[in-house]
Amino acid sequence: MPNPTQRATKLFMQTFGTTADALYQAPGRINISGEHTDYNEGLVLPVAINFHTVIAVKRRDDDVFRAVSDAFPGQIKQWRFANEQPFNHDDGWVNYLKGVTAAMSHSGLHAKGLDLAIVGNVPLGTGLSSSAALEVAFGTAISYASQLHLSPLAIAQLAQRGESQYMGLKCGVMDQMISALAEADNALLIDCADLEGENVALPESLNIIVIDPRLDRAAFNEQTLQRQRQCDQINALLGTDSIRHLSLAQLEAVKNSLTPEQAKLINHIKTENERTPSTARALKQNNIPRFSQLMQQSYLSLRDDFMLHYPEVDTLVNMLHQLVGERGGVRFSDGCVLALVDHELTDAVVNLVEQDYFKQTGIEAKIYLCSASGGASRIDS
Ligand code: ADP
Ligand code: MG
Repeated sequence: MPNPTQRATKLFMQTFGTTADALYQAPGRINISGEHTDYNEGLVLPVAINFHTVIAVKRRDDDVFRAVSDAFPGQIKQWRFANEQPFNHDDGWVNYLKGVTAAMSHSGLHAKGLDLAIVGNVPLGTGLSSSAALEVAFGTAISYASQLHLSPLAIAQLAQRGESQYMGLKCGVMDQMISALAEADNALLIDCADLEGENVALPESLNIIVIDPRLDRAAFNEQTLQRQRQCDQINALLGTDSIRHLSLAQLEAVKNSLTPEQAKLINHIKTENERTPSTARALKQNNIPRFSQLMQQSYLSLRDDFMLHYPEVDTLVNMLHQLVGERGGVRFSDGCVLALVDHELTDAVVNLVEQDYFKQTGIEAKIYLCSASGGASRIDS
């Protein structure tokens, strides 16, 4: 199959009857550590992966945007800069693009219109952040085409505001930041309170394997939303902006008014914020046994304290854990199981998932072999 760049160029020609004048890309991501901490102003450790969204564009002289995506064939969406109309769920995927232009116009930026053809290989709605890849590729395209000279961080923040303010989705800035700022072969330790990022070189011995255990995604998303609402309730109850900044004295003062569930949620956020920099340190020091331990702790904390518990995920993580031991880390993240394992174990992991896991559960899990990619860019032709 032609690569995404060729496919985007072709889709542009077929849709708009002319050639595109530039191409842009942005990657999807995994997150090694820091689950549900990003929107709680905590620490996260994502890695951009070699799955990308590519957009072929041509500048227009007016302020009209026209977009087509191969993920939704036959739909040409159109809107005008600073005239996005209020969010309407039924408009579907174009809302992610409208959110970006709405955030730009609210920040006082002015951009010319574009015709866009979008193609990619980040699986949609699987937990590898196709939405941020789309937003960041688009923000990067606008910045170049309208000569806005936006930094990758500024693009990430605008993209996040689009999703949170225009679309009304509760999301942190992790997905957009890693898609915009990633360095190849590195994870990025992000402090979501001040948006400081630090590159963390990944040990060369580790391969990144993502396994989609095919959970009921709608039910999973609903549970995730419920946890986000519970975190909001805790913040409201405690009169704080984020659980991250709760002092021990504050916790002590409210201990008796917390439900057992609320106390467990707080415990996950607090301990995860300690584990994430430790995980980064273990990777930097190439201390894989320590990394393995921390990943297991993160997995248990998400399951037992943050109460995201799925029997089929347990089965898969336990099988992988037995195989991998201290030669890599395994945990559940955003609906997928991540295995960062010694490259000599890759074939054994694939076999285990395709054969043993399938035999035990009847589930045909999907496997993505990933590498740590760089962030969004213009593609040189
Ligand atoms: P994730 O970001 O984990 O893939 P989300 O539910 O956050 O899952 O975002 C998926 C949505 O993003 C899709 O349903 C679609 O609306 C939009 N999207 C992502 N990539 C594309 C694309 N290439 N073309 C059109 N829409 C896309
Ligand atoms: Mg998303």
